[in-house]
Amino acid sequence: MEEKCQFCGGNVKKKTVSLDLWKKEKLYIFKNVPAKVCEQCGEKYFSSKIYGIIDRLLKENLKPDETMVVPVLSFKKFVKETEAIS
Ligand SMILES: [Zn+2]
Repeated sequence: MEEKCQFCGGNVKKKTVSLDLWKKEKLYIFKNVPAKVCEQCGEKYFSSKIYGIIDRLLKENLKPDETMVVPVLSFKKFVKETEAIS
């Protein structure tokens, strides 16, 4: 039986992807993670086994393979709060 995307009903295919995860104010990026990806909307599905492995890796506090600089932009500089929500 072919799996379908829960959101759009598109076809789901096996792929390796990146997974971004926030943990305690810190952003982790996992690369080459096996997932199922919707060909239509791009939604990524990970198995519970993958989440188990990620949990374990985070607990072990391993040295990352690489680190990257993430640009942070505050909206305050560009829009007034009232503009942004109306
Ligand atoms: Zn989809």
